[in-house]
Amino acid sequence: MTRLPSARRDQEPLLAVRDLSVTFGLKGQRTVAAVDEVSFDIYPGQHVGLVGESGSGKSVTSLAIMGLLPDRGVRIGGEARYDGRNLLTSSGKEMSRLRGRDIAMVFQDPMTSLNPVVPVGLQVSEVIRRHEQASKREARARAADLLQRVGIPDPVRRLKEYPHQLSGGMRQRVLIAIALACGPKLLIADEPTTALDVTIQAQVLEVLKELVADTDAALLMITPDLGIVAGLCDEVNVMYSGRIVESATRERLFASPRHPYTNGLLHSIPRLDSRRGAQLTPIPGSPTQTIPWTEGCAFAPRCRNRIETCVGEAPALEADGDRLLRCFNPADRGQDSQEVGA
Ligand code: ADP
Ligand code: MG
Repeated sequence: MTRLPSARRDQEPLLAVRDLSVTFGLKGQRTVAAVDEVSFDIYPGQHVGLVGESGSGKSVTSLAIMGLLPDRGVRIGGEARYDGRNLLTSSGKEMSRLRGRDIAMVFQDPMTSLNPVVPVGLQVSEVIRRHEQASKREARARAADLLQRVGIPDPVRRLKEYPHQLSGGMRQRVLIAIALACGPKLLIADEPTTALDVTIQAQVLEVLKELVADTDAALLMITPDLGIVAGLCDEVNVMYSGRIVESATRERLFASPRHPYTNGLLHSIPRLDSRRGAQLTPIPGSPTQTIPWTEGCAFAPRCRNRIETCVGEAPALEADGDRLLRCFNPADRGQDSQEVGA
């Protein structure tokens, strides 16, 4: 298995995911390979992006790492090494001790993640008390402090309110407060702002960014939006149909995307540095338009760079200079800058 030469070779990765595979299929049903031999590292304090359209396997990757996939009808292979242990084979008890304290998660939908019948303050202080020795009073004071830090005005009053009394943006701030309450070493944020209005999205992302920086937590940012990754992540893994298709530092990826899928994602978002009047070009087709990796490159049906080899044989993920790439006919290094405004 190929890995990128890491700039942080003097350190051990905080989380090392190796050949993670997740297959769904109850007896008698068609099996779905949702995640296929996915590998990446996250170093202490590093911000890593996992990017891809809906259905590419991002959430399943994070749920597998967190030990949150159902027991029945799921086959998990590979390793997710954290602090000397493989999370994929750790007991439920061990995982629930780690969750919240060492590794925390923020999900897309704050309404289903929060308990609707418990005041938000209590939900924050409960997490503190579950993982640390703190009196009710101490935990409440810290909860108020946390709400303040995530930008909730009048936090002492807000502590007593129920989730439905808060706006979507405020609820997502509460979730961020809960996630960062015990100073986790790793935060996994799975599309934390997708459900919010654009202006609120930017505010919540800013809060997340500040808190992650303040606490020195590493971040796995899961998003379909390369624009979010651009302002946040040091390294980026692009996923398509369960596999990583390109992996590079942010600088390399944005300066010269090589996988036609990455290139497509990049040209479908507005960029501050593009020429005025430059056209946004969405990727043709839909993410469901794939072929199984066993029959070729899954992206081939939508790919502008498709050549004969792409159907019939699947490209391997290989080192390409200082990045990893899974493609028989990648974009030219110079193609990106020529295409913008063409
Ligand atoms: P993403 O988060 O990138 O949008 P997911 O990780 O949620 O995508 O899903 C990846 C694939 O796995 C999809 O094809 C989805 O239908 C499938 N999948 C996810 N959860 C289950 C499940 N519980 N049972 C069967 N298939 C699932
Ligand atoms: Mg998802």
